[in-house]
Amino acid sequence: MQDTYRHRGLRQKLVQILKSKGIRDVNVLQAIGTIPRHFFLDRAFDTWAYKDLAFPIDAGQTISQPYTVAFQTQLLKINRGDKVLEIGTGSGYQASVLYKMGAKVYTIERQKRLFDKTSEVLPRMGLGGVRTLFGDGFVGAPRFAPYDKILITAAAPFFPQALFDQLKVGGYMVIPVGEGDIQKMKRITKVSPTQKREELFGTFSFVPMLAGTNAA
Ligand code: SAH
Repeated sequence: MQDTYRHRGLRQKLVQILKSKGIRDVNVLQAIGTIPRHFFLDRAFDTWAYKDLAFPIDAGQTISQPYTVAFQTQLLKINRGDKVLEIGTGSGYQASVLYKMGAKVYTIERQKRLFDKTSEVLPRMGLGGVRTLFGDGFVGAPRFAPYDKILITAAAPFFPQALFDQLKVGGYMVIPVGEGDIQKMKRITKVSPTQKREELFGTFSFVPMLAGTNAA
């Protein structure tokens, strides 16, 4: 795969679109302006990769719409060196955005096929620093806890307490909550080991967060 002038031009246009939709975090915009999103999609989507749209990837899953990636990342207020746990690696694009912003990224995927793919592809793209994990995001990754930030990129049917326990006090969790087609975007602040503050940021649409793993 090549990253041509044309791709770069389209990417800058995408950045402009995201700005016009209200994304302000310059580090988010810069990361999206740098990462070749077309590398994360099948070749057939090459010229489509820089539209502000979600697309199908393997295993019946989707790569999130760039606006959704930008919006969730902006809510996390990423600082360089933040330890971030992502639930739902999918294509690996969101994890790469966080990594480009200087975060230490751990990302969990329950679909073995997607895990195998990102584990192979990310290092080849110079993104081998992203730690890919195969497992159930409801369990999280206590081995590497606590995290400064936790990002859930699938629709959570309920609030995952195990993940809250793996978050630092003062840390944020960004999570789309709700079953069915529409979820409420929430930012949870961990105010103390047992208390949380909740903020609401409109509605989005995600594939469901499912329990267990799928090794097929
Ligand atoms: N962040 C991804 C898009 C995520 S789509 C990207 O940038 O491309 C949601 C992903 O979450 C899917 O790949 C799905 O398989 C995964 N997923 C759903 N439930 C999960 C769980 N319990 N643990 C880990 N991953 C999960």
